[in-house]
Amino acid sequence: MDCIFCKIRDRIIPKKFTYEDEDLMVFPDIHPLKPIHLLIIPKKHIKDLLDLKDDNLFGKIRKITQKMVKKFKLENKGYRTVINGGGAQGVSHLHIHLIGPIGKEPAMFI
Ligand code: AMP
Ligand code: ZN
Repeated sequence: MDCIFCKIRDRIIPKKFTYEDEDLMVFPDIHPLKPIHLLIIPKKHIKDLLDLKDDNLFGKIRKITQKMVKKFKLENKGYRTVINGGGAQGVSHLHIHLIGPIGKEPAMFI
């Protein structure tokens, strides 16, 4: 399968991880929209949110997203999480964008 995030997971494409455990990996987006722009990604290839059935994994994603908000001190600076799906995504391997600092920009995704 030609999936860039699977290749990063498998170290075919080298990447410095911000965080990694057995289920998740986190690294900076290559085209950051804000000073902090992380991708929080389950290692398992899941196409998009509709294919995510595992509540345990969803819980882990929540926990690590919260951890990253705190690690990068975004609690009070504004942050946004985005999950593109259904064809709106450029990479069809589930990932959460965490971006900030950000104000009350009206656009869903800047
Ligand atoms: P989406 O449009 O939600 O699928 O977002 C995919 C994101 O992956 C984009 O913001 C890209 O900039 C990012 N991206 C693509 N390739 C890489 C890479 N090799 N390393 C880091 N981020 C990447
Ligand atoms: Zn993949």
